Amino acid sequence: MNLIILGAPGSGKGTQAQQLAERAGLRHISSGDLLREAIARKTELGQQVETIIEAGELVPDEVVLKLVMEALADSEGLNGWILDGYPRNPDQAEALEDVLSMNRQVVDAVVFLKVDADTIVERLLKRGRVDDTEDTIRTRLKVYEKETLPVLEFYELRYDVHEINGTMAIDEVADAIRELVDA
Ligand code: ADP
Repeated sequence: MNLIILGAPGSGKGTQAQQLAERAGLRHISSGDLLREAIARKTELGQQVETIIEAGELVPDEVVLKLVMEALADSEGLNGWILDGYPRNPDQAEALEDVLSMNRQVVDAVVFLKVDADTIVERLLKRGRVDDTEDTIRTRLKVYEKETLPVLEFYELRYDVHEINGTMAIDEVADAIRELVDA
């Protein structure tokens, strides 16, 4: 089973994707984690993207696509994957469709975690990652509305998108996702 999980920063995508991946034997592919790993390892790519991420802007498409493609190729033998944080703009969504059709893979489900802006700001300030400062959060939310919300429309035209209320308790959200995945 291959899943895409969509939602604003702080909507709980990472938490849910990780839980579900463990439970269902899927590979959790988080573009943000892949980028942060590259930064931590001080690779050339990591050094290229560090200031971009701290500013809350999007990393160039080709950079993220490369990391995501490697991770997709590395999912062989598992029951599938769950993509979290990618795609983040319509061009990335198009690129993903191309890669998947080349690899003869399909998207089985698209989940959208819906959370209001106030809750998002509150959650991110509490989390306190280096890109969770008030200024950066504001930028990330703007980028989300402008670049990433159109991705939701992209998938709504092609797939059945399952909207889940992301303000519920973590376990309740997990149950809701599990129900639709099991269905
Ligand atoms: P969150 O979902 O809380 O914003 P992520 O870990 O998904 O956190 O992303 C952190 C940052 O990594 C983003 O603000 C962006 O700079 C970069 N990033 C992650 N995924 C992508 C992507 N698909 N395209 C471009 N940049 C990305």
